[in-house]
Amino acid sequence: IPDIHKGIKLLSNSPRPKEAQRLEDAHTIVVGGAGLGNIDNFSLVRELSVAMGAELAATRPPVLEHWVDEERLIGQTGKSVRPKLLLSIGTSGAVQYVAGIMEAQTIVAVNRDKNAPIFQIADIGIIADAKTILPRLIDRVSQVTMRKLADDLGTREKSDSRNAFGARVKKLREAHNWTIEALSKATGQSPEFIEKVEKGITTPPVAFLLRFARALKIDPDTFLRREEKALIRSLKDQAFMKRTQDYAYQTLSPGEESHHLRAFMVTIEAKKAHKPLAYKHEGEEFIFVLEGELKLTLGDKDHRLRSGESIHFNSDTPHKLKSISSEATRCLVVLFTP
Ligand SMILES: Cc1cc2nc3c(=O)[nH]c(=O)nc-3n(C[C@H](O)[C@H](O)[C@H](O)COP(=O)(O)OP(=O)(O)OC[C@H]3O[C@@H](n4cnc5c(N)ncnc54)[C@H](O)[C@@H]3O)c2cc1C
Repeated sequence: IPDIHKGIKLLSNSPRPKEAQRLEDAHTIVVGGAGLGNIDNFSLVRELSVAMGAELAATRPPVLEHWVDEERLIGQTGKSVRPKLLLSIGTSGAVQYVAGIMEAQTIVAVNRDKNAPIFQIADIGIIADAKTILPRLIDRVSQVTMRKLADDLGTREKSDSRNAFGARVKKLREAHNWTIEALSKATGQSPEFIEKVEKGITTPPVAFLLRFARALKIDPDTFLRREEKALIRSLKDQAFMKRTQDYAYQTLSPGEESHHLRAFMVTIEAKKAHKPLAYKHEGEEFIFVLEGELKLTLGDKDHRLRSGESIHFNSDTPHKLKSISSEATRCLVVLFTP
């Protein structure tokens, strides 16, 4: 701050948000009108424009109410636009406004009044309350955007799809006015990594996409395909896998620890014991041997179980498992605790 401004203290500085694209050049525009009723509802229109990667615009009343900058005004005293797609939400279709949108290729209008004049010029008319339809539209558009990102990630070997992925991440980040550092924090990746992703130099792990979706407040479940959900489930299962030198077990019923019935896949290395000591627990236990040969010491009795054999016993009795085959023994263990 030069001397001339003595007495002025700089408290903080932050980069100016990226200038919005000129309305006249925009491909997609979302216009909000007086029908939004207040600044909070108007912010939903802003959110939709961000989710769509569109430009935000308004009729005169929202400008007069200072819900949006004057430079976003469309119409006779504002800008004339020619986008491919224009969404007009909560606008009546006054001549002074319509004069500015006549060159739009496709106009989609949302108004709760079926007789609103805007429907006479709209290509698609939706009779609905903006407050109800906007949150649903935002959700749907966000899901489609994330789905597209997931598809780009799926074909990551191709460098052009990697570039498309990076460009989309960058666009979404900028639309939310996030710095690279903010996105790095939200996704748990370094700023350098984010930069490489945006430039298409590297492809991120699926976990990045899931965290990115959460940062955008989208439930990842809603945009993932069934097979992707299955993959994530199997990754989660692995987290439940425990391994020591002698045995490994995998929980087949993760997240259901409080349930009475729990299933495990237990693998005991050749000639090794499951646990050095016998143990007991309230309830019942069922063991089915899938591969190898198992010695079950139940109380003071030994039972030998080969592949395909099973046993059901009262788990109050101290018991101990040992693989007695020359290869690992794999068995399904189901515990019932009352
Ligand atoms: C000389 C002059 C120049 C002008 N220049 C411009 C200009 O450049 N641009 C401009 O925009 N205006 C201009 N105007 C103003 C213009 O005449 C209109 O007043 C203005 O366009 C109306 O804006 P609107 O459609 O948002 O509001 P309104 O006409 O009040 O319409 C609101 C609409 O929202 C609907 N609605 C209400 N609640 C909901 C809801 N919950 N969900 C869905 N729909 C809902 C209503 O049914 C209604 O149709 C000018 C006027 C004059 C006199």
